[in-house]
Amino acid sequence: MSIVLATRNPGKIAEIKALLPGVRIRPAASFPGCPEPEETGRTFEENALIKARAVARYTGRTALADDSGLEVDALDGAPGVRSARYAGSDATDRENLLRLLDALDGISDADRTARFRCVMAIAAPDGRTWTEEGACEGRILQEPRGESGFGYDPLFVPAGYENTFGELDASVKNRISHRAKALRRIAEVLRALPDTPG
Ligand code: IMP
Repeated sequence: MSIVLATRNPGKIAEIKALLPGVRIRPAASFPGCPEPEETGRTFEENALIKARAVARYTGRTALADDSGLEVDALDGAPGVRSARYAGSDATDRENLLRLLDALDGISDADRTARFRCVMAIAAPDGRTWTEEGACEGRILQEPRGESGFGYDPLFVPAGYENTFGELDASVKNRISHRAKALRRIAEVLRALPDTPG
């Protein structure tokens, strides 16, 4: 099975590869001119579909897209679909993380509950689409800890753990994360699809 992965985020690519053994994953970036559509949707699902459809249409191959982000209860679900751009359109992971700490300044540990959400979308060259979702509950620390993962990982402690995703081994994150859950579900769809030319 071969798919084109519509994400250019190296952190996500590494996790998706680890979670889909046996699937040949070609990054969208290896197709010159492949579009990177604007994420204009209001939900993770809309954005994942925008990305998967654009890449399937351009490449003529089955495409897989991830749209994900962090919802913080004390911020009414922000940064949500704007997680990658929370501190500005070209913000780095570090800038986004610092903006989040700023927004949560003065909020007690008990009120720093949050969850990561991920929607995985598949688009087939014939126009059919599928989506699956995964969530991972946890809380936001007062300061970052750990260097693994990407994005908000150094601030996020998953429920039932004491360490952040930035401190936990990648194998732990890949077992319990929002992305792992969504991928396990969408892998069933992938298995049932006819292969497209590699
Ligand atoms: P998008 O799906 O490309 O819009 O970006 C998702 C953004 O959400 C990333 O840039 C990260 O800031 C954040 N995010 C999504 N999943 C994770 C994760 O597993 N760990 C840390 N941050 C994440």
